[in-house]
Amino acid sequence: MNSLLLIGGRVIDPASRLDTVTDLLMVQGKIAALGPEAAQQAPAETEKFDAKGQVVCPGLIDLHVHLREPGQTAKETIITGTGAAARGGFTSLVCMPNTSPPIDNAGTVALIRERAERSGVINVFITGAITKGIAGEELAPIGSLKRAGVVAITDDGHCVQNNELMRRALEYAGMFDLPVMDHCQDYALVSDGVAHEGYWSTALGLRGWPAAGEEMIVARNIQLAERTGAHVHCQHLSASGSVRLIREAKQRGVPVSGEACPHHFVLTDAAIAGSEKFWSNDGRGVFGYGNGEPQKPVWPTYDTNFKMNPPLRSAKDRAAILEGIVDGTLEVLCSDHAPHCNYEKEVEFDYAPFGITGLETELALSLMQLYHSKLLGLSDLIAKFTVAPARLLRLSKGTLSVGADADVTVFDPDRAWVFEKGETGSKSFNSPFYGWRLKGRAVATIVCGRIIRREK
Ligand SMILES: [Zn+2]
Repeated sequence: MNSLLLIGGRVIDPASRLDTVTDLLMVQGKIAALGPEAAQQAPAETEKFDAKGQVVCPGLIDLHVHLREPGQTAKETIITGTGAAARGGFTSLVCMPNTSPPIDNAGTVALIRERAERSGVINVFITGAITKGIAGEELAPIGSLKRAGVVAITDDGHCVQNNELMRRALEYAGMFDLPVMDHCQDYALVSDGVAHEGYWSTALGLRGWPAAGEEMIVARNIQLAERTGAHVHCQHLSASGSVRLIREAKQRGVPVSGEACPHHFVLTDAAIAGSEKFWSNDGRGVFGYGNGEPQKPVWPTYDTNFKMNPPLRSAKDRAAILEGIVDGTLEVLCSDHAPHCNYEKEVEFDYAPFGITGLETELALSLMQLYHSKLLGLSDLIAKFTVAPARLLRLSKGTLSVGADADVTVFDPDRAWVFEKGETGSKSFNSPFYGWRLKGRAVATIVCGRIIRREK
């Protein structure tokens, strides 16, 4: 019989408002007991894990990951992507549909499901496209995608520009009780922008990607969610205006939600001007890297690992994202893990693809910028990686209540470590955080009651 007893950890389950030092027993892939009776109920052969001094929480869920399979397996595969997620403490991820071919039909959903079941080391949930070919012109077969098992629809990487088409997508998705997630980008406003439109884009001679390019679509989505009653989830928000719009809409009861990624609440566009400019401007005090600190991470101007979509924004936007996370406007944290090959990123800033990897650093960056900074308690932070994404996508995950799936993350919120290039589980290396001194690390990732990854 497969059974595992975690002894003496600080068990935090935001879904059941639990935060206490106790034991947790898993038997046959399910949570079997919590508390003093856990040890008594453990079968004879139970594997024991000393979790003293560690946090034990529901398995972390990342609802925004690009696995790149099928079609772009030079960047990432289901094996390497789920492996990187396990290293980061994640037991479930949600993959985006902008693969080649895109996930816009039931056959591709079945293909990915079959491969994920065979070679994925964690749970993989699949999203389908809103439009055929993610071309923004004609709706994908939403009902058949739902029957094939997608948990949401999104054209992520792209954004449906036609408001009438988006309205119909919401109406159909509402009929099938399927959340719609949106990458918010107004193409006319953004055009070929590559960096936040502001001081640094001007100083560096880069084409601007204005905050209004995101806010305009967030506003559109709020109007359509209100009109149709269907839920819209705005992905990877970066701009202060987006946070304000969503906060106001939620207060009016509009079915809308938002997510934030660590790069948008740790970094700013000053990072594109190089490490020296970043640390002497917006980077002051970030993670205790003060002005006199000799060991600050170093990178050059125009480093393409600071190019993502939406772009890094101003310090004011970064503050607004943090405020939105803290006051609950943005209820989900995720990585937007977007692997690219070295040869693709090693070009001029203008020509490099958008995106960075993130699965292995997001827990530490979130702990540092939110928990260690005393902005957010541990339980509230964990909720944004567990019960919040599970509720949004109606996954039967994200809790440690008895009978739930035995997906559990054990992490040390104080473990100091440095993210080294040679240690990544991803197939790609496009992270801006190599060489950073981080605090907080997953020590065990448990899927279906089995330890699939353990830190020494
Ligand atoms: Zn996106």
